[in-house]
Order: sequence, then C-alpha cells, then structure tokens
Amino acid sequence: MSAAASARQILTRLHEVMASRLHAQAKLDRVVEIIGESLTSEVCSIYLLRQGMLELFATRGLNKTAVHVTRMAVGEGLTGTIADNVETLNLAEARAHPDFRYREETGEEKFHSFAGVPIVYRERAVGVLCVQHVEPRRYEDVEIEALQTTAMVLSELITNAELVDEEEARGLTGERTGPQTVTGLTLVKGLGAGQAVYHQPRVQITQTVAEDIEAERQRVYRAFDKMREQIDALAGQAEFGGKGGEHEEVLETYKMFAYDEGWSRRINEAIDSGLTAEAAIERVQQHTRMRMREIDDPLLQDRMHDLEDLANRLLRIVSGQLGTAAQQGLPKDTILIARNLGPAELLEYDKRRLKGVILEEGSLTAHVVIVARAMGVPVLGRANHGKGGLRGTVREGDEILLDAGAGIATVRPSVQVADAFAARFAKSRERQAAYAELRDVEPFTRDGTRIQVMMNAGLRDDMSALAMTGADGVGLFRTEFQFLVSATLPQRERQTRLYRDVLEAASDKPVIFRTVDIGGDKSVPYLSSAVADADENPAMGWRALRLGLDREGLMKAQARALLEAAGGRSLYVMFPMVSEPWEFDAAKAVFDEQLAFLRRKKKVSPEAIHFGAMLEVPALAEVLDVLLPKLSFLSVGTNDLTQFLFAADRANPRLAQRYDWLSPSIIRFLSRVVQGSVGSGVDLGVCGEMGGRRLEALALLGIGFRRLSITPAAVGPIKELVRRVDLTELSAAMSAWLSDPGTDLRASLVAWAEQRHIDVD
Ligand code: PEP
Ligand code: MG
Repeated sequence: MSAAASARQILTRLHEVMASRLHAQAKLDRVVEIIGESLTSEVCSIYLLRQGMLELFATRGLNKTAVHVTRMAVGEGLTGTIADNVETLNLAEARAHPDFRYREETGEEKFHSFAGVPIVYRERAVGVLCVQHVEPRRYEDVEIEALQTTAMVLSELITNAELVDEEEARGLTGERTGPQTVTGLTLVKGLGAGQAVYHQPRVQITQTVAEDIEAERQRVYRAFDKMREQIDALAGQAEFGGKGGEHEEVLETYKMFAYDEGWSRRINEAIDSGLTAEAAIERVQQHTRMRMREIDDPLLQDRMHDLEDLANRLLRIVSGQLGTAAQQGLPKDTILIARNLGPAELLEYDKRRLKGVILEEGSLTAHVVIVARAMGVPVLGRANHGKGGLRGTVREGDEILLDAGAGIATVRPSVQVADAFAARFAKSRERQAAYAELRDVEPFTRDGTRIQVMMNAGLRDDMSALAMTGADGVGLFRTEFQFLVSATLPQRERQTRLYRDVLEAASDKPVIFRTVDIGGDKSVPYLSSAVADADENPAMGWRALRLGLDREGLMKAQARALLEAAGGRSLYVMFPMVSEPWEFDAAKAVFDEQLAFLRRKKKVSPEAIHFGAMLEVPALAEVLDVLLPKLSFLSVGTNDLTQFLFAADRANPRLAQRYDWLSPSIIRFLSRVVQGSVGSGVDLGVCGEMGGRRLEALALLGIGFRRLSITPAAVGPIKELVRRVDLTELSAAMSAWLSDPGTDLRASLVAWAEQRHIDVD
C-alpha cells in the first residue's frame, strides 16, 4: 500500500471515530488503538495538558492504571520536552536521550524506541501523541508523518470536546513561555500597552479530515493560482512603489516559493492522504518547519520566514479568511505586529485602539512611520527575535508593553516589569501634560528670537492637533494621503472638499499644501499600471512633481481644487521634488492657467497665492540664485534630501541606522543653503522628520533655520526646547564646531545641552 493510501486509511478510521457519538474519553481510547495497530506499534499514548501538567489520557500498551495518574511537567521527560519545544522526537533508544525519565507506574521499561509529536492548537502545544516499540528502531518518515497528521486531527477533537483549557495553554511552549523582550530600533518614540495582534492573522483550521478529496484538490489548485496572481501583481507594483530595500528581494523569494512545484506536490500528497486543503497546507508547513529547525543557517531561517508568510497567505486564500486585522476589528488596546506595512494599510486601523506597532522591518523616514508618528502611535522597527521571526516569540493575544523610545517590547511581562512600566507611563503623561501647557505660549528663544513651530499633517483628522498643540500653522500638508487612503483616484470635488475643510479647521493660521507626492514608498494601486514598467528605482524615479507635470490632468485637477477651496483667502502651495528651476515654473504655470480659468468664470479666487518649493534634491541647492527669486518660501525636506545626499534608500531597514542627520555632510550642506538664502526675502524652513527631534532641532536652529514644521507630537517638546536656548550662544558654538573638521557634532551638542540642563531626548 502506498504511503498516501495507508495514511488515508488511518484518517478514514479517525474520521469515523470523530463523527461517532462516543464521548471524548472513549474517542481517545479508540484513537490510540487505531494508531497503534496502523503503525504496528506496541504502545500508543496521548498526553493532554491539564492544570499545567501533561497527563496521560489514553494508552494502548502501557499499564491502564497509569491513565490519569501519570503526569509530567512541561519540559520534564521526553513528553515534556516535545511539548516544551513544540518539536517531534524520533529515537531508536529512548533511554539514551538526556531528558528521558523513567515512570514506574507505566511499565514502559521494556520499550526501547520512542517517537512523539506535539498536538498543537493556536501555535501552542496542548498535548503529545507518542508511540513506543520493544525493538530499538527509528520510526520511518511516513510513520512520523502519520503521527503528525493524527496530531492535527486530535487537536480538532480535543478543542471541539473542550478537553484542554485554552487559557491554560497560553503559559506553555518553550521559549515562548514567560516574559521575553524583543529589541529593535526606535522609529516613533512612546509607550504603549496592549494585546498582540498580527496584521495578517493566522488562519484557524476547523476541519482537518476531507469529505471529498477531489474537491479539496480543486480548492488548493485555485488557491495556488490566485496566490501566484497576487505575487505577480505585487512584484509589478514593487517596481512602481515597493516598500523599498529588502522588499524586492522578499518578493523574489515569494515568487520562487509560489511557483515551487515541490511545495504544491507535497500539499497534494497530504490531500491524497485524506486531509482538507487547509490541513494539508499546515501539515506540509509543520514538516518544513521541523526540517528547517535542524539547519542552523540564518539565511535559510530568513527564507523560512518568507515561506511562512506565503503559506499563511495560501491558507488565507483557501479558507476565505482574507482580511487583515483591520477588517476584523481590533481589541480595545492593540499592539499591531507586521513584517512591514504600507502607509495606506496603517491608515485602515482604528487609531483609538492602536497603542503601538512592532515591525520586523521599517526605517525612520519610511512613510508608514511618518503616518504612525502623525497618528501618535509608537513604533518599534527592525524587531526580530531569532528563529521564525516574531511569530516564534509573540503569540496572537499575548500582552505586550512597548517602550519604543528605549527600543524594547516586553512580551508576557512579569508583575514587576508591568509595575515599573505603569510608573513610567504615568511620568510620561505628566510630561505630555506639561507640554500641553505650552500650547498658548509663543516659542521665543531666551535671547528673543521668535521661532515658527508649525506642524505636518495629511488628513482631515490631523487638523484637531493644530488647536491642541498651538502650532503656528501647517507647514506641510501632504495631499497625497487622501490618494493613499482611497481605493480610486480622488475626484476634484472630493479634493476641494478636503482642502476646504482643512482651511476651515486652520481658521486664520496658514496651511502649506504640498501637491501630490506619489511614487517612491507611496504607491497607489490605481496609478501603478501607468508606471509599472517605468521605474526600477522608484524613490529617484517618476514621482512627485515629475509625475504631476507629465500627468497634467492630475495636476490641473488638484490646482483647481486648491484654488477653489481657498477662494477669498490666502493659499500656500508647495511643489515636491523640484530638481531644476524650470520645473517650478512649469508647475506654477498650471496654477496660473487654472486661476485664469476661474477668473474668466467669475469664481471667487484666493486673495493671495504664495508659491514655494521643497528642497529635497541636492542639485537644486546649486542653483538657489536662479530659483529663489521665483519663490516666496522654500522648505527643506530632509527625509528625501538625506537619502539622496548619502545615496541611502530611506525605506531600507538595513540602512536605517547607518547615517546620522548630525553628520558634517548634512549639517554643512544645510548651512550652505541657509547662507545662500540670506537676503533673498524667501522664507526658509525645514519640514522633514529631523526637525522634530530635539537634538537635531538644536543643530538646525544653530545654523540659522527659524521655521520648523514637524509632527504634531513634537510641537510641545520643540517649543519647550526653543524657550531654553540662547540662540546667539548656540550659533557661535555651531559655527566653531563646523569649522573644526575633527568635531563629533552629536557628542558636542549633547555636551552643550547637558551643561545647560537641556534635555535632548
Ligand atoms: C521630506 O522628504 O523630508 C518630506 C518632508 O517629504 P516626504 O517625507 O513626504 O517625502
Ligand atoms: Mg519628500
């Protein structure tokens, strides 16, 4: 009989038992008989978790009197080791294993060989199924597979019969027991506490034995087709606006697995043995996981991670459980976990319930991080935790305390850690309250210079922060956010409505609208086909104003929407990614044309229009003399500028910590821009993330910037900083440091601030 046929026979018999009217204990008694007979094994036993111990629930071959008597702690003996590590053991000589413990009451002394598999439910071991044999022999692969398949079916039986308490199972399973810390890179500072929720939830398998094998096979075929389509589409999109860096590499691996014949063949074989499509996918995945654990190669571990992602995707397709956690709704306090997220994906979440985000990738200036910062959600990035990534450490529903500022998340915290965290939380709230008190205080430096502290925004909701923080206005309104959150291109009327609402919310404070900056890591599906084949390097590709000038329809619609929305008041418009002065002229011409149209139609036009540009492409700094006379303001986008100055992709997690905003290359460059604009009458500011960090803000003030536009949460801290600074003194120190090539700017600034009791964290 073939392996599949014998496995099918076992499954058919198990299925009969499951479907029978027997009570749970009788079912387990039947199962051990079936497995024992099928594998011609003298012993077959089932241990289940009860009150924190693994209890012998059923056996064939051991003393029956030991049933419900023999109990092992998790981690104790071979059974306990299997449960602890959620790992299979296959031993020719059980006694030779260091974890072997002899239990007299079972009468197991005559048995030599031993094989056991964990019974897994929701990624936790809830029991162990094992066989023993008098002859010392290793069980064959097909036998181990039969055991693993049986364990899956048992998991269904056990949970349906509520034989183990799920709550109880939570505290189990090896390295995932007890508190763990996950470390990573601070992407958005802040504290958050809540339950772990995976952006892509694991599928719960509710039926393991197939009713109709052919039907299951067709389901898997269809799911494979769909998954391959999705991966191909993602790869297409990546060329336009992938999440950058490793993303493409990951997609390549996805593609390789998605088309891997070996993988689909193994799933098919598992279906032949009588499993449902879902169970077959999971079964093959378990097997691969087991193999991979034996190989200690970090590169392969990474690939395993990719395969896990993909298997989960396939499971989601086949089971129809497609949505992300955003669609399923979040628990009250959630710490969201994902490998990476796009800005639009994050925006789908209910921000009142989202208390933190942990990403396995991520970098400081990736747009998803900018969005999170604007939402006031702390983010820990580059968080990985050994084998199997975060999935290997954090389970769905685990309690997590996130201290993103310290770069740490504590999973399943102890009482002491939770208490200490609560105290820090209270302190941080006090600090926030102190910042809030500065709301109506104007930020003058100690020597009397008024600094403009504005905020960045992108959505209607963000505008409430203007009143809350007392910012001087919106220094950067990222209009593309509306495009990112829409499933289709936002029509002109919708744009007008948004801009009008924003201006109304701002009352008499200025709002600088930046025209759409899509492309790079801000991809929108409805435009991707237009650019899919164009860009290998989207951040430097056809994005922002480049795209806007070529897609005139888009730019005209936005210009009209802005002009109409600002009817009767001042309009500030800023163009992103201007690389040469003529691009500014061309963009302004689109507005002029629309303005003329409105006037012809006798519609109310803005009282005044101020045009500005972003300086984010280094080339523009060389032609300031040509550019500045055309502008009323210039805003330095340090996020893009630094990625271009260092030729370092802002979204690439591997480069996230490599370069410093306080490196002389950047500060000297920025200082030359300030010098170059002196006397031009052009209002100069910074609107990149750099300005919202206290130490970096000190440097910017020290080289002459007087306007910062920053994330709302930073407005309080930056105002407070401004009020502590003597600008004359700071500027003198900065110019001395900049002219001395040996200076470590970061260290010098920290020391300078410390001497003056200025907190720079
Ligand atoms: C920048 O590049 O610094 C900037 C503010 O724009 P964005 O982050 O939206 O690219
Ligand atoms: Mg930019």
